[in-house]
Amino acid sequence: METSNGMMEKIVSLCKRRGFVFQGSEIYGGFAGFWDYGPLGVALKQNIKNLWWRKFVESRDDMYGLDAAIVMNPKAWEASGHVAGFADPTPDGKSFNTMFKTSVGAGEEATVAYLRPETAGGIFVNFKNVVDSFHPKLPFGIGQIGKAFRNEIAPRDFVFRSREFEQMEVEYFVRPSQWEEKFEEWRKEMFSFIDAVGINKDAVHELEVEDTERAHYSKRTIDFEFDFPFGRKELYGLAYRTDFDLSAHAASSTKDLSYTEEGEEAFIPHVIEPSLGVERTFLAVLASAYTEDELGGEKRVYLKFKPAVAPVKAAIFPLLKNKPELVAKAQEVYQALKKEIPQIVFDDNGNIGKRYRRQDEIGTPFCITIDFDTLGENPELKDTVTLRDRDTGEQKRLTVKEVLELLTSSIKGV
Ligand code: ATP
Repeated sequence: METSNGMMEKIVSLCKRRGFVFQGSEIYGGFAGFWDYGPLGVALKQNIKNLWWRKFVESRDDMYGLDAAIVMNPKAWEASGHVAGFADPTPDGKSFNTMFKTSVGAGEEATVAYLRPETAGGIFVNFKNVVDSFHPKLPFGIGQIGKAFRNEIAPRDFVFRSREFEQMEVEYFVRPSQWEEKFEEWRKEMFSFIDAVGINKDAVHELEVEDTERAHYSKRTIDFEFDFPFGRKELYGLAYRTDFDLSAHAASSTKDLSYTEEGEEAFIPHVIEPSLGVERTFLAVLASAYTEDELGGEKRVYLKFKPAVAPVKAAIFPLLKNKPELVAKAQEVYQALKKEIPQIVFDDNGNIGKRYRRQDEIGTPFCITIDFDTLGENPELKDTVTLRDRDTGEQKRLTVKEVLELLTSSIKGV
C-alpha cells in the first residue's frame, strides 16, 4: 500500500490514532478484509449515508426506501446468475465464487444460503411488493443502503477492497424508450452527490466501460474512477441493466413482474442502476480532505471535511480550564447547542492551541471559545463567543443565536 508521497500511510495512521478505523478483531491479530469503525468513523459513515438517503430517497417524489434481508432465498442468486457466475480467477487459474456461503437451519434440514454480494437483489425481489402497495407510475426507483459481502481473493488498499462492506444502491425503473434520458440524469445526480459529500471532483474520471468488459446484461456502464493515493480505481458504477433482472426473477419465481398503465400492454420495466460503495466514499472523502499546511508559523494537518459529513460539527471550549465561571458558562452554551446539534463536543484539555490542532486533525469545521467577554467583562460583548474557522483560522465574534444559525445552515448539505 506504499505510495510515493506516503499519503496513504498518513491517512491510515490518522484513522487509527484518532479513532476512525481499526483493524477488525485487532487484539487477535486482525482478520484480512474486515474493518471496525471507531467513534469518529461511524459518525462519518453515518453522515455519508444520511446525505445519500436524504438526497436520493427522502427529497424525491419518485423514490421508495427499502431494507431487505441480507440472507435471501438462494433461488434468487441462482436466477440473477451469481451462483453460476460471480467468480474471480485465483492465482493458479481456477475460478472461485466470491459469494460467502452459510447454512440455514439445523441437521439434515439445513439449506445452503449466501450472504448477499450486492444489495440490488433485495430490491428486484421486492419490486412487485412496492408496486402493489404504492402503485407508483414509471419512472420510479427503489433505494437501499446495506451490508454486502464478497469473499475477495485479495482484500487490499485499506477499506477500499473489503470482504464486508456497505452499498448505497438505487434501481430506477424506466420505460425502455426513456433509458438514455434517465441514464444521463443519474450521471449528473452522481456528480452532484460527489460534490455534496466533499469528494474532489477533479480527481473523479468517467470511464466508459467497453462492450467486451461489460456484464452481459448491461447495455451501457460508466465507472466513476477516483485518483486514490494508491492509483486510479473504481469509486462508483452506473449501469443500464435493461430488463435482465426482473425478467430473470419473473422466469425463476414464476411470478408476474410486469408493469402496465391503463390501456397499455404489460411489459417488464428496464432499469438504471447507480451503485455507490460507502467505504470507497469514506476513503475518497478522507483523501480529498487530508491537508497539510502552515498556520501562524506552525505546521499542521487538518481534514477539510464539508460540515455536512464532519463527524464533529463544532467544539466548545472555555478559554481557561481553571476558572469555574468560564467552565460553567461554556457548559451552558454547550448544552444549549447540543440540544439542537448533537454532533458537537466540549473540550477543556490543554491550552487553546492544542485543542485547535486536535479538532483540525479530525476535521471539525468550527471551534467556539467562551472567554471573559462572554461573561460581560466588556458589557458590549456579553453573551457573544468567538467562532474560529478551521480552514482559515479566522475568528469572529457572534452571539450564541448567530452561531446556532450558522451551524444549522452549514451542516445541511443537500
Ligand atoms: P471492483 O472492480 O473494484 O471489484 P466491482 O465492479 O466488482 O468493483 P460492483 O459490483 O460494481 O463493483 O459494486 C458496486 C460498488 O460497490 C463499487 O462501485 C464499490 O463502490 C463497491 N464495492 C464493490 N466491491 C467492494 C469491496 N470489495 N469493498 C468495498 N467496496 C466495494
